[in-house]
Amino acid sequence: MNPLIRLDRQFVWHPFTQMRDWLKQKPILIVSGRGATVRDVTGRDYLDANASIWTNLHGHRHPKINAAIQRQLGKIAHSSALGFANEPASVLAGRLVAAARPATKKKSLRLEKVFYSDDGSTALEVALKLAYEFTRRTRGPKSRPQFLSLQGAYHGDTIGAVSLGHIDLFHRAYGGLLFPTRKAMAPYCYRCPFNRAKPERADARHYRKCQWECVGQVEKKFSAQKKRGNPYAAFVFEPLMQGAAGMIPQPAGWLRQVTDIARHHGALLIADEVMTGFGRTGVTGQDEESAIPKTAPLPVAAPLFATGRAGVTPDFLCVAKGLTGGYLPMAATLTSQKIFDAFLGRYEEFKTFFHGHSFTGNQLGAAAALASLDLLQTKQSVLQRALLQKCLLQELQTLWPLPQVGDIRQVGLVAGIELVKDWRTRAPFELRERAGIRVCEAMARRGVLTRPIGNVIALMPPYCTTPEQLRRMVGALREAVTEALATSGTITGSTSRAKTHSARL
Ligand SMILES: *Cc1c(COP(=O)(O)O)cnc(C)c1O
Repeated sequence: MNPLIRLDRQFVWHPFTQMRDWLKQKPILIVSGRGATVRDVTGRDYLDANASIWTNLHGHRHPKINAAIQRQLGKIAHSSALGFANEPASVLAGRLVAAARPATKKKSLRLEKVFYSDDGSTALEVALKLAYEFTRRTRGPKSRPQFLSLQGAYHGDTIGAVSLGHIDLFHRAYGGLLFPTRKAMAPYCYRCPFNRAKPERADARHYRKCQWECVGQVEKKFSAQKKRGNPYAAFVFEPLMQGAAGMIPQPAGWLRQVTDIARHHGALLIADEVMTGFGRTGVTGQDEESAIPKTAPLPVAAPLFATGRAGVTPDFLCVAKGLTGGYLPMAATLTSQKIFDAFLGRYEEFKTFFHGHSFTGNQLGAAAALASLDLLQTKQSVLQRALLQKCLLQELQTLWPLPQVGDIRQVGLVAGIELVKDWRTRAPFELRERAGIRVCEAMARRGVLTRPIGNVIALMPPYCTTPEQLRRMVGALREAVTEALATSGTITGSTSRAKTHSARL
């Protein structure tokens, strides 16, 4: 066995991984990458079809980002933001504020300040603590700020972030550690109890038959809380698409309606753009077909954030994963002057935001983020993303003939493909059948890497992915579904594991 793999098996405990299964398999050990591909220790190349768990934007080893990090290394790697300012973090803060600038003229709604941290979870913790304390300072120290977040929400794995989330599997064990938050119905058109449409061979958002009952449900939550005499302090959401919930997109118009309701009830808006930020949700237009405007010139200043695309300005904008182009762990929480001002005072008033991390404002991370923003804001990148978005739309159509494909949901450059026993009934695979895992294993054997979310296969190509590479990603998925699920129910977990094992030797 390769000595590196032996070390991994002996010492490393992997995240979100059943280590008993892991230890039965031979892991793919990545040693290098280039563009949309990664190479393992045996020299085999794979397509990185989920952008290294949703982080990578421009591909691996991008010359511009590499050069920016190297330039910064020639100066300094890190100095503390506790007590000192630094060059790249200062420049980046200005650039992020400009990138998030909404169309609105209302100055009070603008995001003006950037608080740095290290990961998506920590970006949410910052927003959570700021919103909590802001509410206590404006409503009075006796107030008990309450948060409303969405069904199926995932906001990270630290205790505050888990408290905001609503994935029962992750909650169960830690219930005693969490603080209570309320949940509101999130749209999930494909499995919506209010959708009266029969299944069709199309994205359920587009053929759904409903009366926006889901919006009514959110409204009810806000009204009920108001009646309790303690209106929600903040509404927390992933805009346009919920990621870890299963790549669940919101029908056009939903976000605007519910955020208007939240504002009407005096709640702050906390947008979690950890997955959706930096162009992931597309270049322009509300649907994928309009990715490339036929007449109008492409907007180089295309909104980089999902909230921007939907015309929503939050009070907190949380970004991480793609911030550094997926190179280094760095996160930011953008917020408004209004929030910032509530923390100003004489030193001895102790209104300071007592929060921070050792690597806050890391210089290498900020340098990478600046290079990534430079790339994103070129005409070439906008055009490339628009083309890729269109190409993804076309390729995904080839999956509809498969009876195990129930729903295909694309938002910009993210897609979730929900696997079912039979599309006519929407009957789901049981989790213990490991349908998603089996399909991803079969994709890996074809040289394409991604990770399932239960029965949903996520595709999130790096922006540098060529049409040919995209065809291979979707082609591998098509074959994998047929191979792994055609005789659905007859393949047991153990035989499929054995197959994987031999294929990866
Ligand atoms: C990944 C993710 C997080 C957590 O980010 P980490 O960097 O893993 O802590 C939070 N919110 C969303 C929407 C995410 O996709």
